[in-house]
Amino acid sequence: ESNAYYVPDQHSIEVCYELSAQERSSFSGAGDSGDSLDTAVYQSMVATLYHEVGHALIGELELKTTGREEDVADQMAAYILTSDDESKDYLLTTADSYALAGSRIEALDDSAFADAHSLDAQRSVNFLCYVYGSDETTFQYLVDDGALNSDRAEGCAGEYTQMSEAWEALLAQYVRG
Ligand SMILES: [Zn+2]
Repeated sequence: ESNAYYVPDQHSIEVCYELSAQERSSFSGAGDSGDSLDTAVYQSMVATLYHEVGHALIGELELKTTGREEDVADQMAAYILTSDDESKDYLLTTADSYALAGSRIEALDDSAFADAHSLDAQRSVNFLCYVYGSDETTFQYLVDDGALNSDRAEGCAGEYTQMSEAWEALLAQYVRG
């Protein structure tokens, strides 16, 4: 199955090879090849792993959150992958992945709006917003080239600070060293 899961009963995370195959197909279809294709698949899979780590931390540590857990898990991935400059490429790649997935959907039906996950296009923009919010100067091009809506962008630094400070607070009592 092309998916990944946190499995509470087993205290484990499962990431299916079929998911990386689907990502490869998606990026390949968008024109990536060779090393850049390998890199895109790798980066998006790492981001997926951190999304599942978000579910696992919520489950294992019984963290209290508000907001939908799928959004909070995406925020965990964004929190980890904005911790250094190199990792931000992973989030940009992941934003591309969700944008591609969103662009393949011809019509949104009720099940898409009822889904526990935000829409693919929204998840894509949220990741861009966090990357931009983490460093508006370096990532100004995301706004300039239209990838990130300029109205949304105005609030991204605040969104990023709120999200990253919340995860810091949630994990503070568990962090060692
Ligand atoms: Zn999830």
